[in-house]
Amino acid sequence: MLSGGGPTGVETAGEIATLWKGQKKVYLLDSGAGPLPMLREDVRRTAKKQLESLGVVVKVNTRVVKETKEQDGTLTLQLSNGESIAADLHIPTFGLSPNTAFVPAEMLDETRSVKVDTHMRSTEYANVWAAGDAAAVKRKTIVSGTPMMEALVVNVVAVVEGKEPVKEYKDEPTPMIVPIGGGFAMGTGILFGWKPWGLLVWLLKGRNFFIGNAPNVALGKSLTSGGKV
Ligand SMILES: Cc1cc2nc3c(=O)[nH]c(=O)nc-3n(C[C@H](O)[C@H](O)[C@H](O)COP(=O)(O)OP(=O)(O)OC[C@H]3O[C@@H](n4cnc5c(N)ncnc54)[C@H](O)[C@@H]3O)c2cc1C
Repeated sequence: MLSGGGPTGVETAGEIATLWKGQKKVYLLDSGAGPLPMLREDVRRTAKKQLESLGVVVKVNTRVVKETKEQDGTLTLQLSNGESIAADLHIPTFGLSPNTAFVPAEMLDETRSVKVDTHMRSTEYANVWAAGDAAAVKRKTIVSGTPMMEALVVNVVAVVEGKEPVKEYKDEPTPMIVPIGGGFAMGTGILFGWKPWGLLVWLLKGRNFFIGNAPNVALGKSLTSGGKV
């Protein structure tokens, strides 16, 4: 059972359903109107259809309200629609918690993210900067992390040299590619306003989820997005 129909929930449900096809029943719950709420209606329909083709049961406007661990180790999940489902595992795939407990409260917004201006500078303290998931921006992805980091670095250097910050970060929609089950023609998303074919999703992400880039990231040679440091 997965709770949360964002990209993480959709990708994970697709992978599990592919691995255990016919052996395990996979549920994907979404407390809203369905998978990939941030994307276009046609993309969302494709995602739902592809998940269902793998046997995933997609339940919309539904959430887990109570989780009970039975003596045999299984879980009983009570759903908001009154159903009760026995599960091996419940994977919540929603919510982002920036590790900002140490940051003074006045610097944070209601999501506990650091409030920044378009230069990635704290709106409260001129000598504090933030980028990535910890910053109060709309798009929290690897793709948006790179231009945030670029703006932050250029601006910190400018300020250290006694100049004004020069580079702005534009908090605009980024491409989103969502493999579903890793199959050759499975997956969807939005790429420059266009719904990519499953084959392209597989080529760009589904075949390895960028894992091949992990050693270079760990060694500090490359950014997670693939760009050079
Ligand atoms: C399952 C999943 C799938 C995703 N898939 C995609 C995708 O396909 N495409 C995409 O664009 N985005 C994706 N994202 C989002 C993307 O991973 C994040 O937006 C991105 O990693 C944020 O980068 P970051 O450097 O801000 O934070 P993180 O990657 O979380 O890195 C923060 C680092 O700082 C360390 N840290 C935390 N607190 C402190 C501290 N106080 N002092 C020092 N170090 C600290 C942490 O241990 C961690 O190593 C996905 C996220 C998840 C969870």
